[in-house]
Amino acid sequence: MTRKMQAAQVEQFGQPLVLKELDIPTPGAGQILVKTEACGVCHTDLHAASGDWPLKPTLPFTPGHEGIGIVTALGAGVTAVKEGDRVGVPWLYSACGHCEFCLAAQEPVCAEAQFGGYTQNGGFAEYILADPNYVAHIPAGLAARDAAPLICAGITSYKGLKETQARPGQWVVISGIGGLGHLGVQYAKAMGLQVCAVDIDEGKLEHARRLGADAVVNAKTGDPVAAVRKLTGGGAHGVLITAPSLPAFKQGVGMTRKHGTCVLVGIPPGDFPTPLFDVVANCITIRGSFVGNRRDMAEALAFAAEGKVKADIELQPLSAINAVFERLAKGEVPSRVVLDFAG
Ligand code: NAD
Ligand code: ZN
Ligand code: ZN
Repeated sequence: MTRKMQAAQVEQFGQPLVLKELDIPTPGAGQILVKTEACGVCHTDLHAASGDWPLKPTLPFTPGHEGIGIVTALGAGVTAVKEGDRVGVPWLYSACGHCEFCLAAQEPVCAEAQFGGYTQNGGFAEYILADPNYVAHIPAGLAARDAAPLICAGITSYKGLKETQARPGQWVVISGIGGLGHLGVQYAKAMGLQVCAVDIDEGKLEHARRLGADAVVNAKTGDPVAAVRKLTGGGAHGVLITAPSLPAFKQGVGMTRKHGTCVLVGIPPGDFPTPLFDVVANCITIRGSFVGNRRDMAEALAFAAEGKVKADIELQPLSAINAVFERLAKGEVPSRVVLDFAG
């Protein structure tokens, strides 16, 4: 008899997820089976379930790209991991390994890349199939629940900060202090940067202060661009926009110092107006950043293993996923919800 597992699937865009019993998949050649211990809930999962983006997943699918678990079965030919290893199954589920981008360690933009919880079933399930060459290796001593947010929110905010090219002592703005941003503040401090946190929620800003932000700006009250320019003496050297909200993007460009870099990682559907003259005359770089490569993953996890970064988590059961999505949509999740499969 085939063994069954619980999973939460998107059957229709914009509709609640459906909890079901599915067959536990069998790993094919070159695949592994991971028994989920914990899976973070990213705002991207909400975009995926809403069908927000031009490239849509095929229905039905299981979201979740912050799944951490134990390898329980190996398909033929697998040598990169062994049974019992703790791994994470991230957004970058797999890539071709031989195109110009893969050769340059830019595998997130590989044309053949597969995305966990999007083009491949993800971690909102008791078991996940994975590609052993692309899983995250969780350092010993890091609990699954603590590691979960790091394999998307962590790596993305860390890589985005690197992409600002801001140097120690310089200012960065982090706009959006949710799942990504609350980790971004900690990475930025560990990288020796001066941090200004921007959000529209006082609670998130107080949290940013507790996490070490040097300054906070509420974008809902007053003019956040003027406030940042005054604070930093002409704009931040680097700006990282994680907010899933279009107004934050134009503001972020306005907060960028001359010759500075504004890195976009939030992906609300739509476009934002760019003040062309200001960008050109001030030599501002606007750059997209998409998760990170496998080296960035190892680095992002190492900060946590060394105790420099810690995700703030709220544990919930898989069965609570629809209520969690509702709160996430309203900005009511303090930092990161992690689905706990251990219980
Ligand atoms: P989240 O919901 O946990 O956090 C979003 C935060 O932004 C909240 O604190 C909210 O209060 C704040 N916010 C909302 N409007 C704002 C505004 N106008 N100005 C400033 N702050 C504002 O979301 P998350 O999980 O951190 O994800 C954020 C975004 O990043 C999503 O769009 C997600 O899809 C995207 N994302 C991108 C990548 C990538 O590789 N580029 C990876 C992961 C997530
Ligand atoms: Zn994510
Ligand atoms: Zn490739």
